[in-house]
Amino acid sequence: MSLKHVFSPVKLRHKTLKNRIVFGAHTTNMAQNGLPGDQHLAYYRERAMGGAAMIVVEPMPVHPAAVLTRGNFRHSSDKVIPHFTRLTEACKAHGTVMIQQLYHVGAHGDWDNSWHANWSPSGGPSYHDNDGSHEMTVDEIEETIDSFVQAAIRCQKAGFDGVEVWAAYHCLLDQFWTPFSNRRMDEWGGSLENRTRFSREVLRRIREACGEDFIIGLSVNDDSDKEVCLSRDEMVEIVALHDAENLMDYVTVGSGSYFDFYKLLPSFQYPENLGADLAERLKGAVQHALVTAESNIRTPENANTVLGSGQADLVALVRAQIADPHLVTKARQGRLEDIRGCLTCNQQCWGRRGRDYYISCLINPSAGHEYLWGGDRFTPAEKPKTILVVGAGPAGLETARVAAERGHKVILAEASSELGGQFRLAGLQPRRAQITDLIAWYGRQLDKLGVDLRFNSYMDAEDIQAVGADEVVLATGSMPAGTGFQKALPHVPELPGIETGNVWSVEDVMGRAARLGQKVIVLDEGGNWRGIGTAWHLAEAGHQVSIVTPDAMVARELFRSATDFPARRTLARLGASFVTEAAIAGWSGQAAEVQCLLTGERSQLLADSLVLATGNVAENRLAGDLRALGIASYIVGDACAPRLASAAIFEGRKTGLTI
Ligand code: ADP
Repeated sequence: MSLKHVFSPVKLRHKTLKNRIVFGAHTTNMAQNGLPGDQHLAYYRERAMGGAAMIVVEPMPVHPAAVLTRGNFRHSSDKVIPHFTRLTEACKAHGTVMIQQLYHVGAHGDWDNSWHANWSPSGGPSYHDNDGSHEMTVDEIEETIDSFVQAAIRCQKAGFDGVEVWAAYHCLLDQFWTPFSNRRMDEWGGSLENRTRFSREVLRRIREACGEDFIIGLSVNDDSDKEVCLSRDEMVEIVALHDAENLMDYVTVGSGSYFDFYKLLPSFQYPENLGADLAERLKGAVQHALVTAESNIRTPENANTVLGSGQADLVALVRAQIADPHLVTKARQGRLEDIRGCLTCNQQCWGRRGRDYYISCLINPSAGHEYLWGGDRFTPAEKPKTILVVGAGPAGLETARVAAERGHKVILAEASSELGGQFRLAGLQPRRAQITDLIAWYGRQLDKLGVDLRFNSYMDAEDIQAVGADEVVLATGSMPAGTGFQKALPHVPELPGIETGNVWSVEDVMGRAARLGQKVIVLDEGGNWRGIGTAWHLAEAGHQVSIVTPDAMVARELFRSATDFPARRTLARLGASFVTEAAIAGWSGQAAEVQCLLTGERSQLLADSLVLATGNVAENRLAGDLRALGIASYIVGDACAPRLASAAIFEGRKTGLTI
């Protein structure tokens, strides 16, 4: 496939971008004591090395009131300059244009991190927590504008080629633009000219302070279906107004806002190319600025389509380049089949950042560990060995791939006739086929690397001994406990009545082994995709689904990845019913005895089938059998302890790198 639109260079003020793919701004949460260190540097350098034409380093708060996360960099301090200089030098060495995003959240700050009251145009509420803000005085407005300018000067001193001023998601600049949050009667509110005065002053004074050879970007968003947010027409008018005054060199368009947080990082629950529609409108309205489309563009093919159809001049791919830092280089070399495609699952990027950890990636555990692991690359093993990996779930696939990349001779034995283990079943849930694509990617990689794949090969200890490998890695996964044990009822080892039948595991359902009636209860203890995706699959197939969970809300764990609300919305639309803060005290084959965890009251819930999304048990017996034969083994993934696929892939990578 020709990607000629992606690979045509473009001029951006005093710089030429070597292609059209940007690694857009996002919080990595890697600051240490407010400073960017080795971890942060290695993370960005890997993407620069991987071919991104421009990197927008994550949001930098410009003022004490602007701080949002613990991982933010020190605002208002020249101490950051030498640390950022290391970063810009390392990335510019790869021909990458380096930008830093400057931000201020206005009303939506976080007092717990900033220790500072929130400031906003008219004292509106935060949509981040339940705090309020106060209406900025004119002095505070001037102080804030100056803080943007000072931050931009600091960026310039640190070697950045420019800054991106953040006006998206209903942040401070957008709060000034939006009548809902700007009710001022002075020269900073009211008419469009007044409401845009703040942003225009910020951009104008940055240009004045930093000179002509300095890129200035503006970041906006599309959340036009929310009544209080700016409509597309209004956003186009505002951007055009800034462009008419030639205030910015590019404008970049994301989706969602603090009013619809889920659309900020649209998961697989949303369509692709979400920011492209508004980008296209802006393209028609600006005379000077380049337009960047962001938001779920995900693949070089999508990027090429968006660019080729004239919807945008640049595209920002963030999660896609977290998942595969070398995406651009692979695309340039025509190796699209080698790109490890982002699952848009948000589990280890936003899912970690949201809990205040540094970001990583479910399918690329080197993200955030580049400084420890030498990037997302491999050094040949000192002594090539024969390695037998048992089990081709995510842990086994990643171990086999990485060990083979390092020059080992790898045999991968799998009991079934397919790759992927439990992850393959997850890929059969609605809209989750990106997982199936990933498993196909593993298949291609193993093939290229000459891994000896043995399907339908259930291995016992003697079989393993007979292979005579130098090293044995057990990636045999986990199995449903099959007892119906629930953490909410720890004194009940087995669900009373489980022997009456019509009880199935998630794996039975997704593996098409379950014979289900019309009415199905899904007992979901995990609150993650294992249970929720199965309930979705069943509801979509026309079953009447009731989800019973000990949690206070269905899909509780999906909150981490900003996928819970859309999941509940879909389930509700499909007619599923939710029973929260409840356990199942007994099963009769036709009904469940549901126990309310708040009152202890019990009630009957009629159902033809009960599906258990309860705990799994590690499948690690082989390790003991091998030990008895004097054979040592590594144990990775669920076989070591049942967890999410991210743990399996992480351990596969780590073992593959060290074996
Ligand atoms: P993980 O997430 O840790 O990779 P999974 O449960 O997804 O674990 O996958 C484990 C895989 O191991 C499954 O595909 C299963 O068929 C395979 N497996 C389990 N035991 C054996 C065995 N003794 N020999 C070969 N394959 C096995």
